[in-house]
Amino acid sequence: MSEINNVENNRESVNFIQKIINEDNIKGTYNQRVHTRFPPEPNGFLHVGHAKSICLNYGLAKKNNGIFNLRFDDTNPTKEDDSYVESIIKDVKWLCPDWEERIFFASDYFDKMYDYAIELIKKGLAFVDDLSADEIREYRGTLTEPGKESPYRNRPVEENLALFENMKNGVYGNGEKVLRAKIDMASPNINMRDPVIYRILHEEHHNTKDKWCIYPMYDYAHPLEDAIEGITHSVCTLEFEDHRPFYDWVLSNIDDFKKNPTQQIEFAKLYLSKTMMGKRYLKQMVEEGYVDGWDDPRMPTIAGLRRRGYTPEAINNFCESIGVSKAQSVVDIAMLEFAIRDDLSLKSPRTMAVLDPIKLVITNYPEGRVEYVEAENNADNPEMGSRMIPFSREIYIEREDFMENPPKKYYRLFPGNEVRLRNAYFVKCEDFVKDENGNVIEVHCTYDPETKSGSGFTGRKVKGTIHWVSAKHSVDAEVRLYDYMMEDEEYDKTNFLEKLNPYSKIILNNCKVEPTMKECSIGDRFQFMRHGFFIIDEETSEEKLVFNRIVSLKSSYKR
Ligand code: ATP
Ligand code: MG
Repeated sequence: MSEINNVENNRESVNFIQKIINEDNIKGTYNQRVHTRFPPEPNGFLHVGHAKSICLNYGLAKKNNGIFNLRFDDTNPTKEDDSYVESIIKDVKWLCPDWEERIFFASDYFDKMYDYAIELIKKGLAFVDDLSADEIREYRGTLTEPGKESPYRNRPVEENLALFENMKNGVYGNGEKVLRAKIDMASPNINMRDPVIYRILHEEHHNTKDKWCIYPMYDYAHPLEDAIEGITHSVCTLEFEDHRPFYDWVLSNIDDFKKNPTQQIEFAKLYLSKTMMGKRYLKQMVEEGYVDGWDDPRMPTIAGLRRRGYTPEAINNFCESIGVSKAQSVVDIAMLEFAIRDDLSLKSPRTMAVLDPIKLVITNYPEGRVEYVEAENNADNPEMGSRMIPFSREIYIEREDFMENPPKKYYRLFPGNEVRLRNAYFVKCEDFVKDENGNVIEVHCTYDPETKSGSGFTGRKVKGTIHWVSAKHSVDAEVRLYDYMMEDEEYDKTNFLEKLNPYSKIILNNCKVEPTMKECSIGDRFQFMRHGFFIIDEETSEEKLVFNRIVSLKSSYKR
């Protein structure tokens, strides 16, 4: 209960970005408009950190009757790819169900960005530089020493215009010239020391193809993209804090955007314990085969979480519950698990599944007889009704529910002990059979017909209740159990490949599930009693039923 209360409390609180929006509304800065965006670079799949940014930006727009754009920051043609564009659109649609699919590309603004660069040149605020990349780095100075001005800094406007046009027309090779903003080589903020705003790159772009051989740099392009779209609050992560002065410089020097420019607001990135984040690392795991693709259910990608069985509601609730802050911290992955349990607990049917089966024979139950017993679909949600499940002389139970020599407080089956078979009868262990290696292969019990579930029997009590499936009626299934990707408690990137959890995926291929599972479809979610929440995986076929465990039932999460 305390978990739920805390989550609810957080939901109510107003985050610091909403406070800024409220102040803007009072001042009338943007005429009560709220327009946010999520600006991914299409160079990989999105992960749960991006989900945080999406839910935050989308949520702010929604709460304030505003607008939310998905905008691809596709200014770097070397790493971008259309397949990433598609996966990102799919993920954003999934997370934001009533989003109007406002999809934009930075590359659609390349013409405008070029014109704005000319405006800066004409104002004496940008110049073409012939220094090489290495020289530019040398001239930049350090945190403690000022930089040095480029010898090309004071070229006349006309010369800059002509050279920039030549850059655009492909007169020069990669790296031969750049366009730089002319600000202040002595600025204490290195980002203000005449940053490069255009570079030459003879490279085909996924969208503009071979139209351009010069590309705008991120720090120049980003504020323009925001301003062109009329974004009011440009929410990004803390690493851009030092870039904000340049963001503001760009907008304050372009006539179109001087009035009520977009404001950049930074928040702390989401990190999750036991989870590797960062596209670069995830990409490495995919490319080097440490996982089975971007949508491997162990991956913290949105595609991976979806395949694992997470719901968009759970991810939205999780993002909301962890709040927004300026302080970097690692969120316990148990909070994410709490969110999915919380979401599925009342809406998914509960069924019995035996993951590590051993046969139990009820020696006094007539051979060939089948009776149907009633089982509630969700004891905490009676509206979900009930189903009838077959019961017969031979059933499967979990191997761990029988012990020849049990420890104290073991209430399940052992010779002489009686337990309840959930939804059916009491059975008492009379005997067991071992194979030649000494492994128990069969448990023999007798049942008491008086004790049928629902019959009102009060004659005696038993301490243990175990689940089962009728042997002859059960359906074979493969169940994939997943564990955390990283062994480390805290998120740490150094030598992360060595810290991968070798037991993050365990395949059980001899599981027995209820016969009703045959009629279920890919994507259906269930609670397997005592085992957790599961989803039917897309690899399910006529021949093979495959389940992924979404999350176990118990949480280690404490607040
Ligand atoms: P990564 O760090 O995984 O490589 P990135 O920041 O390079 O991601 P982008 O495509 O540039 O990925 O990010 C799109 C948006 O998502 C940016 O506004 C960025 O600030 C935000 N974002 C990225 N990672 C996180 C995170 N862990 N938590 C919250 N927001 C994030
Ligand atoms: Mg990036």
